[in-house]
Amino acid sequence: MSQASLMDVVIVGAGPAGLSTALHLVQADPSWAGRVMVLDKAVHPREKLCGGGITRLGEDVLKGLGLSVEPPHVPVREIRFIFGNQVYAIHDDPVFRVVRRDEFDHWLALQAEGRGVIVRQGEAVKAVTPHADYVEIITEQMTFYPKVVVGADGSRSFVRQALKWDDGQRIARLLEVLTPEVANEREEFCKGVAVFDFSRMLAGLQGYYWDFPSLVEGQPVMNRGVFDSRARPERSRAALKQVLREALAKRNRNLADYGLKGHPLHWFDPHGRFAIPHIILAGDAAGVDPMLGEGISFALAYGEAAAAAIVDAFACQNFGFADYRERILAHPILSQLRLRTIAARIAYRFKSPRLVRWLWQLAPLIVRGMAWYKPDCIPVNDRRLIRVNNEPE
Ligand SMILES: Cc1cc2nc3c(=O)[nH]c(=O)nc-3n(C[C@H](O)[C@H](O)[C@H](O)COP(=O)(O)OP(=O)(O)OC[C@H]3O[C@@H](n4cnc5c(N)ncnc54)[C@H](O)[C@@H]3O)c2cc1C
Repeated sequence: MSQASLMDVVIVGAGPAGLSTALHLVQADPSWAGRVMVLDKAVHPREKLCGGGITRLGEDVLKGLGLSVEPPHVPVREIRFIFGNQVYAIHDDPVFRVVRRDEFDHWLALQAEGRGVIVRQGEAVKAVTPHADYVEIITEQMTFYPKVVVGADGSRSFVRQALKWDDGQRIARLLEVLTPEVANEREEFCKGVAVFDFSRMLAGLQGYYWDFPSLVEGQPVMNRGVFDSRARPERSRAALKQVLREALAKRNRNLADYGLKGHPLHWFDPHGRFAIPHIILAGDAAGVDPMLGEGISFALAYGEAAAAAIVDAFACQNFGFADYRERILAHPILSQLRLRTIAARIAYRFKSPRLVRWLWQLAPLIVRGMAWYKPDCIPVNDRRLIRVNNEPE
């Protein structure tokens, strides 16, 4: 057997979850560099459909690894939450940073390689078969026999599908377009403003339309899209393309002029499946935030939890991963996923326009209550939701 096929740990997916797992392993002990391998079917810098917003939750994980967000990004200093004529804002410097995922993930892969991790790219995993004492991983090029496999291969996780874990109910839908802009004419760039517009909740959208200022190869573009959580799968689906078309029209943009792309997002359920002996999931494959669709920071945090579980498994020579769910639920950042799932199921439950409007009137109070109950779940310095205006629609 070649040395590669004898790796102790194979991580499927070189996105934030997989690379963070590898980085945390080598941080725990540099000798992991020779024992862990990351595989990805794509080659960095690869396209990844994403708004690219990284909050302080993700920055904190990076800081723990001795890293900061180095790739080009736009700092967002104000988030505006809109519901009809009600507009609220949260401020910080920054509230979050908008990266391009091809650049961010490529940079993270270089950090992992710089610390000795082998990242094999352009090699898709084709079969995953768990055995009593190891896992057989067949890729397009060779077969691996690691003790542990981490499925960090995104929302459509091949590893999860290979294990026949059926949780097709927990899928959010997202559509996105990029519109070129003149930066100095737009307050989104001049002041660093991002918009989350929930107005279409009354049309059945379980989520929002977003505007994020972004940079593509140094040029200003707005990243615009719709997030439909489907946290309430029993409710009928919103007409996503129509919602996006109307939101763009309000901004004097014609959807037909831009390349429309869509991707699902697999969200978290505390009762979902996260591990079997020798195999654990991380990032989108395990499930992220159904409230706002935040996934990058949580993917990075999964890496920390997954690496800790792997280190302990090798130390005890017990690869059952029976406590992996508890580790996720106890992790300071991942523990927020349970709260966000509950919040999404409540927030996207109501159909009555009057009730939804009334709840939005209470939004500053609700946020104040959350900030008191669990301050970390609002990852900014100033946790006040400030009413900006309340004008007629
Ligand atoms: C339109 C859209 C907008 C979003 N905006 C935001 C945002 O602004 N902020 C935010 O925090 N989150 C956002 N998200 C969510 C975020 O993109 C994900 O949560 C995040 O990418 C999860 O990281 P990951 O490492 O788990 O998976 P991924 O980033 O999807 O990485 C998975 C990797 O696995 C590889 N892979 C897949 N199958 C195989 C296989 N068979 N063999 C080998 N490799 C494989 C893929 O090539 C990929 O590189 C958005 C998502 C979408 C769809």
